[in-house]
Amino acid sequence: MAMNAQGRQTRADAFAATDAPTFTGNKALQIEEDLIFEIGDFAGTGVDLPEPAAKESRLGDMERTSAIGLPGLSEPETMRHYVRLSQKNYAIDMGPFPLGSCTMKHNPRLNEKIARLPGFADLHPLTPEAQCQGALEVIYALETWLKELTGMPAVAMSPKAGAHGELCGMMSIRAALEARGEAATRTRVLAPESAHGTNPATAVQCGFTVDEIPADKTGRVDLAALKDMLGPDVAGIMVTNPNTCGLFERDIRAIADAVHEAGGYFYCDGANFNAIAGKVKPGDLGVDAMHINLHKTFSTPHGGGGPGSGPTVLSEALAPFAPVPYVVLEDGAYALVETRRAAKEEGESAKSLGRLTAFHGQMGMFTRALAYMMSHGLDGIAQAAEDAVLNANYVLARLKSEMTPAFDGYCMHEALFNDRFLKDTGVETIDFAKAMIDEGYHPMTMYFPLVVHGAMLIEPTESESKRELDQFCDALLSLARRAKAGEADVFKAAPVHAPRRRLDETAAARKPVLRWTPPVAEAAE
Ligand SMILES: *Cc1c(COP(=O)(O)O)cnc(C)c1O
Repeated sequence: MAMNAQGRQTRADAFAATDAPTFTGNKALQIEEDLIFEIGDFAGTGVDLPEPAAKESRLGDMERTSAIGLPGLSEPETMRHYVRLSQKNYAIDMGPFPLGSCTMKHNPRLNEKIARLPGFADLHPLTPEAQCQGALEVIYALETWLKELTGMPAVAMSPKAGAHGELCGMMSIRAALEARGEAATRTRVLAPESAHGTNPATAVQCGFTVDEIPADKTGRVDLAALKDMLGPDVAGIMVTNPNTCGLFERDIRAIADAVHEAGGYFYCDGANFNAIAGKVKPGDLGVDAMHINLHKTFSTPHGGGGPGSGPTVLSEALAPFAPVPYVVLEDGAYALVETRRAAKEEGESAKSLGRLTAFHGQMGMFTRALAYMMSHGLDGIAQAAEDAVLNANYVLARLKSEMTPAFDGYCMHEALFNDRFLKDTGVETIDFAKAMIDEGYHPMTMYFPLVVHGAMLIEPTESESKRELDQFCDALLSLARRAKAGEADVFKAAPVHAPRRRLDETAAARKPVLRWTPPVAEAAE
């Protein structure tokens, strides 16, 4: 495959990749886009400023001696470049985003409107408390909602992603063990085989070793096996519920009791809270710490590296170790407890583990999440969870005739399939996913969880209507039939309608080329 210096497929190659090559390389109104440096020259500029009158430079030897190397484009050229780039993103606003374990749901425009109110959006994080009472009230109100929804007594608001919330929870557990004088002996953390990669990574980051809890044949934690693994060296467990196979851990109370009896703590990965929000309170299940991905459950946009927010709720046992800062309400005014010392004076959080981030958390995500909660109400949040589970089961039931579910029975918010239906067709999960792109669908999550062979994990969320779900299911059923009918060639070639075909995703991830370098000839100028 011909590549340019940036490792991108060149336009000539894009020609060859299509059956109907065009002079420009564009496909109808899908327009090819070069890097901004490749479009313009370095001489032109979008703004014409009058030549300044000759003046002696005051920069001395700091004056620039070489060209600055900014691309020179006219204003419309610049505008078009960025608008075209923006259109290359697939988004939940364009079509279904069936990624499992990600909860890609509709983000109501109301949230955006509220988050953009200048009183929230333009606040500097160092604004004096007296001048940002409204913003502090938003944080305080969101804390209250999160504690109410989870039935937990405390919440740390500053973590900026799910994984960061895990770090917060596991650091709290370690701090609690240190306070008990058991940090040196309790060094093992147990996590199911199906766990999201961030779980073991977090535990290791906090200095623990990780052992895998085997799954039973229904795809859930094997309770007997877990009990055998517990002992005086166990710091705690990390369990996702509903789990990454889209199944509710029915033994969750027994799991929590066994872990507590053995002197450990129960970290629950709350990334799948969308399935149970308003229906079950994790506090009632014996959870000690759980992060909530505001950017999944509470509708704020995520993906593409955008901002996340992972507030972490803590049980009575872990609450004293919660990080600063946090908001308190005193005599009708909101205040931030910002330092460990202040927390000590406060008498509340003498053992706080300190600060996790520079400031108070992701304010924009907070405002969006609170707008979502207040516009839905508790009953609306419960309804969303019910609809999400109903939609996933509808997909499961419809696809069952041609595709093979990984486990028997109903699912929660996501439907998990294995690749058994593709056996002997010559088509693999990756080919199936690429063919979905030609049908205009973003693929589902592939090859995760690892416990299921050739896994395909579909999470429609409550956002999709029956009409959307039916079209999606019809497309997948048609693909499954074509795979079985011996059309492997079509799958191996897919995607044929996308601007790029199959890319070396591993190389892109491992050796990303993030910096444009001028072609050699021009650099010499
Ligand atoms: C998304 C997810 C995480 C991590 O959350 P981020 O916000 O991406 O850091 C952890 N566990 C599970 C099960 C998830 O789906």
